[in-house]
Amino acid sequence: MNKTVVIGAGFGGLALAIRLQAAGIPTLLLEQRDKPGGRAYVYEDQGFTFDAGPTVITDPTAIEELFTLAGKRMADYVDLLPVTPFYRLCWESGQVFDYDNDQARLEEQIRRFNPRDVEGYRRFLAYSQAVFKEGYLKLGTVPFLSFRDMVRAGPQLARLQAWRSVYSMVSSFIEDERLREAFSFHSLLVGGNPFATSSIYTLIHALEREWGVWFARGGTGALVQGLVRLFDDLGGTLELNAEVTRLEARGNEISAVQLADGRRIEVAAVASNADVVHTYEKLLGHHPVGASRAASLKRKRMSNSLFVLYFGLNHHHSQLAHHTVCFGPRYKALIDDIFNRDTLSEDFSLYLHAPCVTDPSLAPPGCGSYYVLAPVPHLGTADLDWDIEGPRLRDRIFAYLEQHYMPGLRDQLVTQRMFTPFDFRDQLGAHHGSAFSVEPILRQSAWFRPHNRDSRISNLYLVGAGTHPGAGIPGVIGSAKATAGLMLEALAR
Ligand SMILES: Cc1cc2nc3c(=O)[nH]c(=O)nc-3n(C[C@H](O)[C@H](O)[C@H](O)COP(=O)(O)OP(=O)(O)OC[C@H]3O[C@@H](n4cnc5c(N)ncnc54)[C@H](O)[C@@H]3O)c2cc1C
Repeated sequence: MNKTVVIGAGFGGLALAIRLQAAGIPTLLLEQRDKPGGRAYVYEDQGFTFDAGPTVITDPTAIEELFTLAGKRMADYVDLLPVTPFYRLCWESGQVFDYDNDQARLEEQIRRFNPRDVEGYRRFLAYSQAVFKEGYLKLGTVPFLSFRDMVRAGPQLARLQAWRSVYSMVSSFIEDERLREAFSFHSLLVGGNPFATSSIYTLIHALEREWGVWFARGGTGALVQGLVRLFDDLGGTLELNAEVTRLEARGNEISAVQLADGRRIEVAAVASNADVVHTYEKLLGHHPVGASRAASLKRKRMSNSLFVLYFGLNHHHSQLAHHTVCFGPRYKALIDDIFNRDTLSEDFSLYLHAPCVTDPSLAPPGCGSYYVLAPVPHLGTADLDWDIEGPRLRDRIFAYLEQHYMPGLRDQLVTQRMFTPFDFRDQLGAHHGSAFSVEPILRQSAWFRPHNRDSRISNLYLVGAGTHPGAGIPGVIGSAKATAGLMLEALAR
């Protein structure tokens, strides 16, 4: 029997492979790198463990569903630890906001910024909860294959004023500029500009309030390993160092995948978790459908890239929270630079990850492993030479962290490494080095996003950040549910 193949073992590819295997479809998962996880890769050095990408685990129920549908208990595979506060938000003025799930504590802090915003925040939360119900619970795992699906969702989207931006919607409830930043930055976590992305993305706030923020004991890599073990226990096959180089087609059907090592595997169906432009241009560019899809995808807006610095210190900075957002001097202007300007700004805003606050086992005793990231333009927006810009930006960020957050940092350094837009492009095949794939603006969402099943190549499916609903772990796990539904329906025929 021809195989069902999933290309890429990111969270989306893994979740899809688990769903197919659990439904009795023998599934082969092919990953080009030496470890699974995709953006959730893991670096290990001198006793330090660094999660490369996702660290804020939300919607644990979506992860748990993968275990229960396989008849297993999540607790036997992975231990999720609650993180409090969810994030610490800091400004250069010295203002601090500890954002968590305690309504009274939240309101007390909001009152200190602006007493009138307490009532506004309550209304914002109610709005965000309504969007969460419509946009996430109802539509997050439903594939938008026809324009009719979009039309059907239209009235709800209109009622929720989905045409407005995240920032504009937050500002309609909240007056204080700092609080507007605190409740609008979330879309950046999935590559969305808060000034351009649909207000639907305010649902992230309600999602975090609903289920909390979690961290896997051992790091996000331990969660990836838990999913790999689940797939393995179900009898699935994961091959690492297995790069797919071409999708062979017979008419409008994929007949086989070719691998870099020269192998050719005949397939019944194939789902790609690889970058969507890479999938159509590099793997299927020889076919008229692949060529035309690649051309139209290249006209879409891609989300920003990231500059990430992983570093291990011989000191544990116990003053830090697990997740800190370090707002720089500018908000809107900086975001505008990141999404639209062809140079790198002098200033930056940072996300600082200090996982040893929750799990000290990620560094040698008394030490700390950290990463810090700055959103930066992708290579199509700013064609920078990151071999030159990377070390410069690294030095500026280390100096800044040392001055504002981590005294003595540079003297405490044991190990460090960078990941730049060049690495997103070269190691992950990301178009323009985008960190989150197709930008989540309204005209590129739902039906307007690359579909979970290609409309012309009947056995080609997509899963992951580039398809519906989009980036982020809950998003790509949701995409796996949408795609698995379509594949199982077709394979049952
Ligand atoms: C630094 C960073 C921090 C983030 N933080 C968070 C967070 O805290 N919380 C959150 O929810 N989300 C976060 N995200 C977003 C989230 O990580 C991603 O949206 C999500 O992990 C993407 O998953 P994916 O399934 O689309 O696949 P990816 O992770 O993109 O994986 C795709 C896989 O396909 C493989 N592949 C590509 N081409 C081929 C080929 N030809 N043959 C074989 N294999 C191939 C790649 O090697 C890769 O392993 C973050 C992202 C980044 C970059």
